Order: sequence, then structure tokens, then C-alpha cells
Amino acid sequence: AEASLRQSQKMEAVGQLTGGIAHDFNNMLTGIIGSLDMMRRRIADGQYDRVDRYLDTALTSAERAASLTHRLLAFARRQPLDPRPVAVAEVLHAVASLAAHALPENVRLRLDIAEGLPPALVDSNQLENAVLNLAVNARDAMPEGGEVTISARMAEQADGPLAPDGGELLLISVADTGSGMSPEVLEKVFEPFFTTKPLGQGTGLGLSMVYGFAKQSGGTVRINSAPGEGTQVCLYLPTSKAETVGDVEDAAPAIQGSG
Ligand code: ADP
Repeated sequence: AEASLRQSQKMEAVGQLTGGIAHDFNNMLTGIIGSLDMMRRRIADGQYDRVDRYLDTALTSAERAASLTHRLLAFARRQPLDPRPVAVAEVLHAVASLAAHALPENVRLRLDIAEGLPPALVDSNQLENAVLNLAVNARDAMPEGGEVTISARMAEQADGPLAPDGGELLLISVADTGSGMSPEVLEKVFEPFFTTKPLGQGTGLGLSMVYGFAKQSGGTVRINSAPGEGTQVCLYLPTSKAETVGDVEDAAPAIQGSG
């Protein structure tokens, strides 16, 4: 049951991206079709001198479309939890480039990654999925636009959570300037299937999946949010030196109850 839940969560993230990607893909196809059409007309008129330019435009568009589908396929092909040392900056850059396709023009995406971070000891695909889900939630909280900031640094004593073995934790956060949450909503957000979104738009699995991922990795999640003040979701994750995998049992309640 857990495997199929994980599968459905994966599909949800892919589904939420689909609209943005289909739009981008369609723009690329329009470029290709337009250029080929112009080429055909020039050739019919015997004007071979301008054909090269249209050919270049068509090729560039086709290459962009191919790169987009490759990234999408790599994202869809991911496997179950497999913690390994992961270069956080690399993963966050990959997520940012994927998320850029799902964000409307009035939402700005910022990356703020500290230099020289140690590797996280997590499943890189799940980390990618988690941050992507948080970015989609941030987008949904800002129908009038705003800013999403994905940041990463070492957690400090003042931040609160500590690794079980006293080791260091990485703090990866996704902050938005959106609607924020009431205390009543905040209390329920980690419950599977809790959603305030209209039918068909939200599954209520995003944050419970993020919570399960963080707990299973030996870390945790904290949320700072208030109505009108935006939301910051903080993922605390072990570094590869800390070697705190496990903690699966603690995470189970967050992902059970799915039937
Ligand atoms: P879904 O996004 O499918 O509703 P989630 O588990 O990701 O499922 O989120 C549950 C609920 O938490 C959302 O319906 C929304 O009410 C609230 N929420 C999550 N992220 C944010 C955010 N960044 N800003 C405001 N509300 C949020």
C-alpha cells in the first residue's frame, strides 16, 4: 500500500507540472511548425537564401523540446527511498529549472544556497520531489504572483531541531510571499488527504509526503506561516557524516491512513 501511495504522490507532482510543461512544449512546437511553414513557402517561391535561418530556428526549438522531455522522463522514472550523499546545490538547481516550467510569469523564483555545504544523506529523487511539491504549493498560495525562495544552509542551534546523534543538520527551506495559513489549517497540513484546494486541484498528499520523507531520512519539517504573511517550510536533513538513516517507524503515522 505504501508503494502505491508513493507512486500516486509521484504522479501527483508530475500531474501538477503537466499544465506548465504542456504550455512550454506547445510553444516550442509552434516555433517548429511556423519555421517549417516559412521554409516551405520560400522553397516554393525559389527563395533559397532565407531557408537556413528558418531551419536554425526549427532546430533550436526541437532541441529545447527534446531537453524538456528528457528532464520530465528522468523525473518520472524515480525509485523508492535510497539515501546516499547528495550534493544539495545540484539537486536544488535541478528542481529550480523544473519548477520554472510550472510557475506563471508573475511568480519569481529565487535560489539562495550557502557555499561549501556538506552533502545531505537522503534519497536525491525524494528530495527533488519534496522541494518540487513545496514550490507547487507556494505557487498555489500566490494567485496574484509573488516570490518563491528556495534556500539551503547549515541549521544553527537557534533553529531548534538537532540530529538524534548530535550531528549537524542541513536546513533547506521553501518560502513564499503568498496567503499564509490560519492556525486551524496549519494544525492539519501534515495529515494525508487534508486539502483546502478545490476538487481536482489538490490531493492533500504533498506535505504528508514531505513529512514522511524528512522523518524517514532522520530529519524533520517545521512550518512558519500566518495569514497574509506567507509561508516558510523548513526541511531539516542529516548530512552524510551524521549517518542517521532509519526512523521509519516514527514516520509511519504520517503516511498511513490512506486505506
Ligand atoms: P495539496 O497541495 O494537494 O492541498 P498539501 O498536503 O501539499 O496538499 O497541502 C495541504 C494544504 O496545506 C493545502 O491545501 C493548503 O491549504 C495548505 N498549504 C500548503 N502549502 C501552503 C503554502 N505554501 N501556503 C499556504 N497554504 C499552504
